Amino acid sequence: MSTSTHSSADAVRTSSTVTDRLVEANARYAADFTDPGMDARPVLGVAVVACMDARLDLHAALGLELGDCHTIRNAGGVVTDDVIRSLTISQRALGTRSVVLIHHTGCGLESLTEEFRHELEMEVGQRPAWAVESFRDVDQDVRQSMQRVRTSPFLLHSGDVRGFVFDVTTGLLREIDPATDSAEGRADQA
Ligand SMILES: [Zn+2]
Repeated sequence: MSTSTHSSADAVRTSSTVTDRLVEANARYAADFTDPGMDARPVLGVAVVACMDARLDLHAALGLELGDCHTIRNAGGVVTDDVIRSLTISQRALGTRSVVLIHHTGCGLESLTEEFRHELEMEVGQRPAWAVESFRDVDQDVRQSMQRVRTSPFLLHSGDVRGFVFDVTTGLLREIDPATDSAEGRADQA
């Protein structure tokens, strides 16, 4: 029947043309787009570092609009050297002063361990230079991430650094107290 022919063709087309879908969506976006005439400097002077998790819509969750902030995302929202690189440019070249860190409930990094690197080495013959940065206690990971930002020598502004855990089931942020149990974070810096 033509129905089954159609659905298998659709399946093939869907799996091979996700990017085409995005490009088509962009054409519609651009059709209604007017140049906002904005400067590259974020209006709110804030950089948000967050996990790449697909359930976390930063702009909607934080009431952000186009041009408001820098968003820096990776697996876990981890403060890696590359995140420090982006924050340094954000502060020194583009005038941001505040940093917001956002981890979330049910993060994939909670189910991984550093063993992941060993498994990769066994598979491909080479151990990655990067740490997996997996964690077991999300609150503690936010604390040590705040610590990494605060102690970075490259940043101009480390006075306004706040960390949160976003609950993917309620959409609510829970702020993490930086003072509690930060010994591990300091040890990690050494
Ligand atoms: Zn995550």
